[in-house]
Amino acid sequence: MHTHIIPRNLPKWTEKFGYGDFIYLSHREDKKADMMQGGKFFRTIKENCWDEDLRMNEYKEFNTQVQVVCTIPVLFSYWAKPKDGLEVSMFLNDHIADLVTRYPKNYIGLGTIPMQDTELAIQELERIKKIGLVGIQIGSNINDKNLSEEQFFPIFEACERLGLAIMIHPWQMMGFDSMRKYWLPWLVGMPAETSRAACSLIFGGVLERLPNLRICFSHAGGSFLPTIGRIEHGFNCRPDLVAIDNAVNPRDYIGKFWVDCITHDIDLLKYILKMQGSDKVCLGTDYPFPLGDLEIGKFIEESDLSSTEVEDIFANATLSWLNLNKADFL
Ligand SMILES: [Zn+2]
Repeated sequence: MHTHIIPRNLPKWTEKFGYGDFIYLSHREDKKADMMQGGKFFRTIKENCWDEDLRMNEYKEFNTQVQVVCTIPVLFSYWAKPKDGLEVSMFLNDHIADLVTRYPKNYIGLGTIPMQDTELAIQELERIKKIGLVGIQIGSNINDKNLSEEQFFPIFEACERLGLAIMIHPWQMMGFDSMRKYWLPWLVGMPAETSRAACSLIFGGVLERLPNLRICFSHAGGSFLPTIGRIEHGFNCRPDLVAIDNAVNPRDYIGKFWVDCITHDIDLLKYILKMQGSDKVCLGTDYPFPLGDLEIGKFIEESDLSSTEVEDIFANATLSWLNLNKADFL
């Protein structure tokens, strides 16, 4: 799980809507594409970002048959006018729905929704369920609003009601403009963003009010699990600041959500496994991007983890997070 995909061709939304820095792919002769944000260059991506057969072949090299795909966070477009955000979401969701319909044993799809408008977000959630996606990916904050804001609660409630899983992906990283050098938004901002999302959902009482909501935090939960001691101590020593909306100790939620295993460090992964239990740690990669685990699961296969733990990480945890049956993929 946790791989990113994009349609080969995107509409020119900036021209169509008449504003904004929507993403557009400018294909090059070397089979790569320049991802343009409005008129500005964002990054160059390779054909394994959109070529479904190439992706399956690259995965075969690591004995991996199934990919859980979702969009690239820069396409969330939460800043757009709600109806335009809905249109972007629908386009991306239809692309993934078509893919999973054609390759039911190789692709599982997560959708995206216009989080900037609660009503339209729920409308698209209902449609996502109908077209065969099993969950959604959302950002760690929405236009700088934390996920504990009441406007988002009906969306989480709808996910629980519809049985749709949620992957929280860091994006719109805090401090972005003041730490661009050294790739710090990715190296420092992303782990902090994921902890921001986990703390917001816990302290805001979202996980308490929706115990059947299946949430997975990217990148092993970012800095949340490594700093749980500090977070719990803060909860205990300053409940007047921390425990104002939920009186339950944050440590009590560990193991009630899922994380992926993207740590690049076996010692950290062992700590995460000890905290979460192996049935709550999914095989994530962040494929096909360079900061991901592109030798999929190799550091786990080369470790001394037990076969049960490896089997949980490689298949069972993702199946339980998404409420899917292994038999459907054999
Ligand atoms: Zn990612």
